[in-house]
Amino acid sequence: MDVVIIGAGLGGLAAAISLAQEGIRVQILEKTPKILPVGAGIAIPPNGVRALRHLGVADTLREKGAIDMTAINLRSYDDGRELLRRPGGEEFVKNYGEPWFSIRRADYHNLLLDEAVRRGVKIHLGMEATGVDFAAGIASVTVKSGERFEGHVVIGADGIWSTTLEHLLEVDSTPIPTGDMAYRATFQSEALLSLKNEKLNGLIGKPETNIWMGPKSHAVFYPLKGGSVYNVVLVCPGKLPPDKSTNIGDVAEMRNAFASWDPMLREVLGLVSEVLMWKLCHREELVKWTRANAVVIGNASHPTLPYQQQGAAMAVEDGAVLGLLLGRLNAMGTPEDTSAYIPGILSLFERFRKRRTTVNVRGAIDNQYIFHMEDGPDVDRRDEMLGQTNWETQTPTTFSWNDLQYQSDILSFDFITEAERAFEAWCKTEESYARL
Ligand SMILES: Cc1cc2nc3c(=O)[nH]c(=O)nc-3n(C[C@H](O)[C@H](O)[C@H](O)COP(=O)(O)OP(=O)(O)OC[C@H]3O[C@@H](n4cnc5c(N)ncnc54)[C@H](O)[C@@H]3O)c2cc1C
Repeated sequence: MDVVIIGAGLGGLAAAISLAQEGIRVQILEKTPKILPVGAGIAIPPNGVRALRHLGVADTLREKGAIDMTAINLRSYDDGRELLRRPGGEEFVKNYGEPWFSIRRADYHNLLLDEAVRRGVKIHLGMEATGVDFAAGIASVTVKSGERFEGHVVIGADGIWSTTLEHLLEVDSTPIPTGDMAYRATFQSEALLSLKNEKLNGLIGKPETNIWMGPKSHAVFYPLKGGSVYNVVLVCPGKLPPDKSTNIGDVAEMRNAFASWDPMLREVLGLVSEVLMWKLCHREELVKWTRANAVVIGNASHPTLPYQQQGAAMAVEDGAVLGLLLGRLNAMGTPEDTSAYIPGILSLFERFRKRRTTVNVRGAIDNQYIFHMEDGPDVDRRDEMLGQTNWETQTPTTFSWNDLQYQSDILSFDFITEAERAFEAWCKTEESYARL
């Protein structure tokens, strides 16, 4: 079986590795001439680590500078007081089966890229897909230069601004700006220590994530690269020009947006000399992700807002599961035997993944409400509710962040074993499958 993937982001690379380890030939078309991962740091929650374990790279994460988060703390925006401490480290492994890591995005990307290349995946850079053709049995992708690439399957892993999706659905699927944007910046830990701020010094050196929640905004702060670098993500209302999804930010404007926040955080922001900003967009849930022999995955099919640190994890899960399902089919016969069943497998993938990604997308939106509450009685109620959290026993809560069942569903779900079961069940229900 031959597969063409559009996009060498985290989702596309994960799919490529998963397919290649099933013995499937894979080519990736990436529009950028050089792979330059944007965004400084990224969290890999336990379910993301589970996907990486299936891809055979989880054990190299620490070597690449990934840090085990030993706690995630929610704080009040104005004075930084701790509202809820979520114990991590061994607790994550005990409760969810895997650790929760933070890593430099470039290190994460390179880890997947190297593994894909090692497994024989062909990556064509500077190839912008402009068209997808869905002839029965063979799908083909046309790139800007006019060249065509054919495969038994085409996977659109081309992110939130996916053109594959437009070809697939034949409707305008332009993402909708939420009105929020994210600033991202990094700091050397020596620069942070040079501020000689006692409170800040208490955070440096600890492998913990801190999240400040405030009116219409929140801030996330965590270490990268063994603690030598710190990452800050600030989410707040803001606009970017309609034709831009990222831009160079105005440092003064950024500081001004957080002028009434924890003095410690303001001191940190005082160190920023340049900053990048991202427009945060989303999309209504899609009716379908597949057409004939083509499918979209990751942000192309279910863009997830960064209020739950799950977008990339879901894209990588998609890639791992899709590779597994197509691999099971591939093992049943030659491409001539199996190609008629590919649309069925892609629909199975869609059914299997959609429920989970939709819960996740909605969970992130709910977190936005809780993180961004305006001062007033609702905040008092929220803070009281957070204060009553017991991480050992289920506490009734309306907030997914401290809802143990919700957390377990998102972080512990064994999507690999369940995908194998789903494939077995699919084989039994496909009447004509016996012909294979
Ligand atoms: C501020 C912020 C913080 C975040 N933090 C986290 C976090 O901590 N944890 C987490 O799990 N997620 C996080 N996310 C979400 C995460 O970044 C995305 O969900 C994830 O990168 C999606 O991966 P993807 O592979 O689907 O798409 P992308 O990463 O967008 O990759 C798409 C690829 O396709 C290429 N491409 C696009 N069009 C074409 C074309 N026509 N032809 C060829 N190639 C094309 C692009 O160049 C790109 O390489 C965050 C997002 C933001 C904005």
